Amino acid sequence: MPDDSRHSAPRRYGIETRTVHAGTTPDPTTGARNMPIYQTTAYVFDDVDHAASLFNLQTFGYIYSRLTNPTVAALEERIANLEGGRGAVAAASGHSAQLLAFFTLMEPGDEFIASRNLYGGSVTQFTHSFRKFGWKAIFVDPREPENFRKALTPKCKAIFVEGLANPGGIVLDLEPIAAIARKAAIPLIVDNTMATPYLCRPFDWGADLVVHSTTKFLSGHGTSMGGCVVESGRFDWGKGGKFPGMTQPDPAYHGLNFAETFGDFAYTMKTRAVGLRDLGPAMAPMNAFFTLTGMETLHLRMERHVANAQRVAEFLENHPAVAWVSYAGLKSSPFYKLARKYLPKGAGSVFTFGVKGGYEAGVKAVEGVELFSHVANIGDTRSLIIHPASTTHRQLTEEQQVKAGAGPDVVRLSIGIETVDDLIADLDQALRAAMPARPAKKKSRQPA
Ligand SMILES: *Cc1c(COP(=O)(O)O)cnc(C)c1O
Repeated sequence: MPDDSRHSAPRRYGIETRTVHAGTTPDPTTGARNMPIYQTTAYVFDDVDHAASLFNLQTFGYIYSRLTNPTVAALEERIANLEGGRGAVAAASGHSAQLLAFFTLMEPGDEFIASRNLYGGSVTQFTHSFRKFGWKAIFVDPREPENFRKALTPKCKAIFVEGLANPGGIVLDLEPIAAIARKAAIPLIVDNTMATPYLCRPFDWGADLVVHSTTKFLSGHGTSMGGCVVESGRFDWGKGGKFPGMTQPDPAYHGLNFAETFGDFAYTMKTRAVGLRDLGPAMAPMNAFFTLTGMETLHLRMERHVANAQRVAEFLENHPAVAWVSYAGLKSSPFYKLARKYLPKGAGSVFTFGVKGGYEAGVKAVEGVELFSHVANIGDTRSLIIHPASTTHRQLTEEQQVKAGAGPDVVRLSIGIETVDDLIADLDQALRAAMPARPAKKKSRQPA
């Protein structure tokens, strides 16, 4: 595994230096030290030949901000750098990044295997909206890597997982899953939103593509929607013959062969030149600026996020109103060992716990907090709380809720970077007020 602190010539900067500097240099025209917001839709061509070579992808440069924009490009380069990838394409949101990621890989009738432990919105996107493109998602229990191999079909074009799964507490064994994907000659796509490249770099464990909702920890302040697809540059598109869109002449690009022409960043080029061009979910330059600014403190924020989350989880584990806590940083977690391996700097800051007293106590706890904000978001500097059964998952049956890790007693936290004792005091008073008059006899079930 590459070590950020290892010094060699030429010097490879540490991840802290790269979160501050990667992708940005002083503006060549004005000397502006911070990355300007290039709030423009179009760019002047030198002449007709220059325009033609840009349109033919023979020259790199700016044409139109649906495809490329200097502020967005700086963010793409920074994220690719932190992930250890070859290239990246930013998008308007995490969900549009996922759409772009699959659009480059899939043909109508194709399938992919997805972990069933995903952000709820991703399950809905894969199950319902992707079907309209003729793409089928096959969901498996990700805790046993063999389940991915067993679910493989000849039409499978990818495996999609969250390494650290939302709502948290579940850590996947990425290495054997990557080996299964490699053997099947299909890419492993890891949604690294919850861990961020500060806590985990999926490419180090064999992943081929990484997607992000930059809306969360990367931008970090709950100000800007955004997403990103990152390419490792190591996937062999020709092996197995499964990706004609990459290896055969592209009719939408006058016969251009992306894999031959662009080599180890062919996926990035195709995702931008076809996916982003034709579907159109470009990131706004303003949002790229906010995300770049937020990312400069990614390492400092993540350190505090995970330290606070660890303390809060330990506090909750010993609280009389709490039935169980699902945080991979706790020794009691079945994912503790995997977290030590894949997330040595901390198991993230989003996790769930169960309140004694079920649905009613869960609602009361969420309504009783003062410092925590009751919102559907995660990954803000502020601490956030939600009771999924009464909000995000309320349309499901109780059985479906329990399967999704959103049973009636489940409360989800996204721990911020405030004074940890203030967070603990706030949860303590809310939980005590929510406790049923008599202690509940039945122990609540921990979600699978
Ligand atoms: C929020 C989230 C998404 C979706 O991202 P948006 O920016 O909201 O579109 C995808 N995956 C994970 C893990 C998320 O937390």
